[in-house]
Amino acid sequence: MKIGTPKEIIEGEDRVAMTPASAKDLQKLGYDCVIETGAGLAAGFSDEAYQEAGVEVVKTAAALYKAADIVAKVRPPEDVEIKRLREGQTLISFFYPAQNKELMEAANAKGATVIAMDMVPRISRAQKMDALSSMANIAGYRAVIEAGNNFGRFFTGQVTAAGKVPPAKVLVVGAGVAGLAAIGTATSLGAITYAFDVRPEVAEQVESMGAEFVFLDFEEEQQDGSATGGYASVSSPEFAAAQLAKFREIAPDMDIVITTALIPGRDAPELWTKDMVESMKPGSVIVDLAAERGGNCKLTVKDEKIVTDNGVTIVGYTDFPSRMAAQSSTLYATNIRHMMTDLTPEKDGQPNHNMDDDVIRGATATHKGEITFPPPPPKVA
Ligand code: NAD
Repeated sequence: MKIGTPKEIIEGEDRVAMTPASAKDLQKLGYDCVIETGAGLAAGFSDEAYQEAGVEVVKTAAALYKAADIVAKVRPPEDVEIKRLREGQTLISFFYPAQNKELMEAANAKGATVIAMDMVPRISRAQKMDALSSMANIAGYRAVIEAGNNFGRFFTGQVTAAGKVPPAKVLVVGAGVAGLAAIGTATSLGAITYAFDVRPEVAEQVESMGAEFVFLDFEEEQQDGSATGGYASVSSPEFAAAQLAKFREIAPDMDIVITTALIPGRDAPELWTKDMVESMKPGSVIVDLAAERGGNCKLTVKDEKIVTDNGVTIVGYTDFPSRMAAQSSTLYATNIRHMMTDLTPEKDGQPNHNMDDDVIRGATATHKGEITFPPPPPKVA
C-alpha cells in the first residue's frame, strides 16, 4: 500500500508529517511512499531529498490523495481535504475529535478511517507515538528561546570587567511536558528557575532539573490537584486564592514567566492577573503557552506579541512547534512511523487495524463507517 503526505494548507504551518528518514523506515515496513511537491520545503526537506529516499513526488494535493491509501498529515483536515477522502482510505493526523465532531462525521461519511494522533493513550508503551508530548517538549524549549529573544539581558549571571550581571529569574507555571522542557532550557542557559504546579508529585522532577519548587502556605492534603492520567483537576477556590497570593508576592522579582497550565477539556485557568503584570519590572517577558485555550495570563493576546504600558512583553504565539519545523517534523514523522509499525506487525505494507490493541483503539476516531470516539479507557497503564 501507499502512504502519502500532502503539503499542509493552513497558513504558517511549516511542519510536514513525513521526512526522507521516516520514509525510508516506512518502506522497510513494506509501504511505498508519496509526497506532494514542496510539502517538506518549509521544514528543510527538498523534493530531491525525498526522491533520493525513494519517495514518489506528485504535483498536486488531488494527485496525492488519489495515490495514497494512507494519508499522514499534521493538522486536522480542512473541508477541501475531507472532500478528497474516499472509502477505505486512512487519515492519520492531529484531529481533536472532541472539538471537531462535524469534521469527524464528515470523514466518517466518506468511509475513511481516522487515526487521531492527539488521542494516543498516554501509557508507557505508547510514548514513542505520543505526538502531544513530542510537540509540547519543543514548545517548552522554544518558549524560553522566544523569551530570551525578547529579553534585553543575559540569562546567566556574569562577573565581567565591564560590571557584574545578575542572573535572570525565570518562573515556570505548570510543570507538565512543556513546563519541564522550559525548566531544563532555562536552567541550562544559567537562569535561576522557579516552578509551580498543582500536582505536588512533580516537585521532585522540578528539583531534579535544577529549579526550585514554589510551595504555597496550604494544608498538604488539600494541595493535591492531581486527577487521573497525570493531569490536573480544577483547584478549590481556597487553593486558587493561595496560589494567586503567592504569585502576587513573587511577580515583581521575576524577569521571565512561562505559563503552561492546562486542565483537560477546560479553558486555561487564569493565573497571572493584570495587577501581577503591572507589578513586573520593565523589560520582563511573559510567554503564555496556554494562549490557544484562552491564556493563563489575563492580558495575553492569542497569536500576538504585545508590550504593556509598563514595558512587559507578553508573547501569545500558538505555533511554537511550527517555528522549529525541522525539529518538530522529524519528531512528528517518527511518531507517525511508530504508529505505522504497530499497525503493520507483519511488515508487509498492509495495515492490520487491530481494534483490540489499546493504542490503536484509543486513537481511532472513525473506522469502517462507524464513529468510534470516544474510546474506552485503556486496559493497561
Ligand atoms: P497539560 O498540558 O494538561 O498541563 C500542563 C501542566 O499544567 C500540568 O502539569 C498540570 O498539572 C498543570 N496545571 C494545571 N492547572 C494548574 C494550575 N492552576 N497551576 C499550575 N499548574 C497547573 O499536561 P501535560 O504536559 O500534557 O502532562 C500531564 C501529565 O501527563 C504529566 O504528569 C506527564 O508526565 C504525564 N504524561 C505521561 C505520559 C506517558 O506516560 N506516556 C506521556 C505524556 C505525559
